[in-house]
Amino acid sequence: MLTENVSNLVVLGSTGSIGRQTLEVVDLHPGRFKVTGLAAYDELDLLAEQVKKYQPRLVALGNASLYSQCRSRLGNRVEILTGVEGLCELAAYAEADTVLVALSGAIGIKPTLAAIKKSRRIALANKETLVAAGDIVMQSAREHHAEIIPVDSEHSAVFQCLQGERAYVRNIWLTASGGPFRDYSKEQLAEVTVDMALSHPNWNMGPKISIDSATLMNKGLEVIEAHHLFAIGYDNIKVLVQKESVIHSMVEFVDGSFIAHLGVADMRIPIQYALTYPERRPSPAAHLDFTQLAAIHFAAPDHGRFPALGLAIAAGRRGGTLPAVMNAANEVAVGCFIKKQIKFDQIAVLVEKVMHDHAIIDRPGLEDILAADQWARIRTRQIILKEEKI
Ligand code: MG
Repeated sequence: MLTENVSNLVVLGSTGSIGRQTLEVVDLHPGRFKVTGLAAYDELDLLAEQVKKYQPRLVALGNASLYSQCRSRLGNRVEILTGVEGLCELAAYAEADTVLVALSGAIGIKPTLAAIKKSRRIALANKETLVAAGDIVMQSAREHHAEIIPVDSEHSAVFQCLQGERAYVRNIWLTASGGPFRDYSKEQLAEVTVDMALSHPNWNMGPKISIDSATLMNKGLEVIEAHHLFAIGYDNIKVLVQKESVIHSMVEFVDGSFIAHLGVADMRIPIQYALTYPERRPSPAAHLDFTQLAAIHFAAPDHGRFPALGLAIAAGRRGGTLPAVMNAANEVAVGCFIKKQIKFDQIAVLVEKVMHDHAIIDRPGLEDILAADQWARIRTRQIILKEEKI
């Protein structure tokens, strides 16, 4: 069915979990979206398939060293940009009206800002960008009248609960599954392997966010993300463990009413909502069957066993360049855990040490944030290489 309002869509991170599910959503609504640009880091096989199927005008390749290989795979049908500059050029591409940012990590900052400066709708699935540079990104979005619609399931849930009700919010309640090791002791957490951490019970996700979910760092990053997206103070953002992942988040209003967003744990729902908002469309995601739900359990998060959550919130509260440093240290630590260079419970120890070593800059500009991010990456690797006591 062809509709009047075709969205021209650029997908940054098209070969990752969110990118692939975004293209599934595109397939479900023929005529509603036209894919005008795709960006991937280095998965050439899948990228070549996607280019053949969607025939975008532009492609950006994050790993510039693969340019020749990419050129021979894609032929001369499509223009290929490379590196962060290429991502920025694609994000600002004239034929896009929605840019879905599904890059992993603070690498998303510059492309997101490039899309904002062109007043695009940003469907944001890249929380690290808001964690590291939230003040700058939100300010720029206001200046350029760029809508930022969250794709992160919790923030999509809050965004939906807040429609028409922003003035009366008391607290935002972010729910957490608690990750695969919710009930592990400290001793058991020390022995967690990469394979164990990569298999999440409720959500099917990429490697970085799967590890972050296991340490609860993901929920800490989401607290900072909520602070920026909804302009709400840290005292009014609560974290609640809800292990079935049925309630995706809630808003508590001044009169004691709560509005909760419920659904199955399927990312195609928040992805589609961010693309079609304020319109809703049918989705292939299953619908909840409440008669099959035995119970919904609630618990407070355990900061003792999962210190990453508190570290992230502390970084957010302190502000300045500290959230960027915390985030970058975590990105490096997670990468080293995946490469089996450090143990699971050393991730948070490393993040804390790098945060402690950082000389915070208040009211940072973009260059300060990018420099702090680089400093933190180098410092984290130094600590690991020197095998300083972590
Ligand atoms: Mg989330």
